[in-house]
Amino acid sequence: MTNTTNSTDQMPINDSTLTSFDYIIINANLATFSEQYGFDIYNDNQTNNQNKSIPYGQLENAAIGIKDGKIAWVGTHEQIKPHLTHYKNDQIKDVNGNWVTPGLIDCHTHIVYGGNRSNEFEARLQGASYQDIAAQGGGIVSTVSATRAANEEELFAQSEKRLLALIKEGVTSVEIKSGYGLDLETERKMLKVARALGDKHHIHVSTTYLAAHALPPEYKDNADDYIEQVCQWLPILHSEDLVDAVDGFCENIAFTAEQIKRVFDVARSLDLPVKLHSEQLSNIGASALVADYQGLSSDHLEHLAEDDIKKMAASNTVAVLLPGAFYTLRDTKLPPIEMLRKHQVPMAISTDCNPGTSPLTSLLLAMNMGCTLFYLTTEEVLAGTTVHAAQALGLANKGKIEVGCDADLALWDIARPADFAYQMGLNPIAGIMVQGKWRETV
Ligand SMILES: [Zn+2]
Repeated sequence: MTNTTNSTDQMPINDSTLTSFDYIIINANLATFSEQYGFDIYNDNQTNNQNKSIPYGQLENAAIGIKDGKIAWVGTHEQIKPHLTHYKNDQIKDVNGNWVTPGLIDCHTHIVYGGNRSNEFEARLQGASYQDIAAQGGGIVSTVSATRAANEEELFAQSEKRLLALIKEGVTSVEIKSGYGLDLETERKMLKVARALGDKHHIHVSTTYLAAHALPPEYKDNADDYIEQVCQWLPILHSEDLVDAVDGFCENIAFTAEQIKRVFDVARSLDLPVKLHSEQLSNIGASALVADYQGLSSDHLEHLAEDDIKKMAASNTVAVLLPGAFYTLRDTKLPPIEMLRKHQVPMAISTDCNPGTSPLTSLLLAMNMGCTLFYLTTEEVLAGTTVHAAQALGLANKGKIEVGCDADLALWDIARPADFAYQMGLNPIAGIMVQGKWRETV
C-alpha cells in the first residue's frame, strides 16, 4: 500500500466489496473536503502534528467505487488494481491523474427572473442616477413586472440558459430563490420553474421562498400589511412542495428585523430552515436574528460585527460571501474575513446570480473574485463551493467525497486545485457526474 496519510488503508476491505461496484473511477487525484481524509481548514498545522490537516483533504493516486448512485468506497489505486479484471470496460473510468472534486454547489442564486436590466446598466454608464432609473420604473420593480408578465414556459426558457452556464462549470446542486413575484401567483410560478429546471437537467435544486425581498408597488408605504401576506402565502406554497427554505432581505432599504421575524416564526411552525440577506449595506441585526433561529446561512455580510459572528459560530450558521455583488456595486467595505476565520465560521462562496447587482453565471469566476477581492485562500473558496455550500443548504450527503455521500462529482483537467481560482475565463471541466451517472454533454 502506498498511501499512509489517511484512513483508507485501515478500513477493513474484503475482495467482495472491491468487486461489487457499479462503476469505478481510477487513477484520480481527489480533493475530498472530507475530515476522514484530513480536511480541517482551521487547523494551522503548528500545534498538533498527530492531527495534521491535509489541504483540500486531498488524496493522490486514488480511486472511487460507486454503487446505487452513492460513493461506496474511496481508496488507493493500488488497492483496486488487482480487481479491475472483474469489471467491464464501460464500468471503469481511468482519469489519468486528473483531479476529481465533489460536484460544485451554488448556494445563493436568483436565476429565475424575467427580462434583464442591461438597459439600466447602459444608462448608468451614460450618467443616469439610480433615482432617474427608479423614476422611469427601473430597478427591482422592472424585474418584478417582467417576471409577472412572463408565462411559465417563457420564464423557464430564459432561466434555463443561466442554469446551463452554471452546470457547464461543474455545478451539480443549485439554490434558486423566488422574490421577483411579490404576489402569490408569481412566487408560485418562480418556484415551479425552479423545480422544473432541476427535473429536466437532473441536478439538485433547493428552492427558497423569498417573498420578503422587496415591497411591491401595490403595498407602497405599507410594509407590515405586505409581510402579513408573505406569512399567509408561505404555508400554501409549502403545502404544494415548492419550498425548501425561507429567506428575506433584512436591510434599511428593505424589511426590518421585526418584520422578518414574523416570517421566520411561520417558517419555524412549518419546520422550514431559514437564511437571510444580511449586513450588505448596514447592520440592523440580521445575522443575530438568523442565528437566533439556528439559520442555515447568513449572506453578504460586508457590515457584519464580531458579536454577530460569535452568534453565528454558536448556531452553526454558514457565512455566504457574494463577491459578484461586491464587484458590480464597486463596494469597498470588505466582509470581516479574518474574524470569521478566528471564530471558525464556515464560509461559502456563491454567484448571487441576479439581474440587478450580480449578473454572474460563473461560479469559477466567483471563486477567483473570492481570492482576489476578499483575500480568501484557494482552499477556502473551493471548500466554499463544496462542503460549506452543502452545509449552507442543509445537504448532509453532498459537497464531500466520502463513503455514503451522493456520487455527484466533477472531473477537471488541472494540475493542482489552486488552478480553479487562479484562472479567469478558462473552464477546465472534463466530466460531470450526478448520482453516479455522467452527464452526456458537459
Ligand atoms: Zn441574493
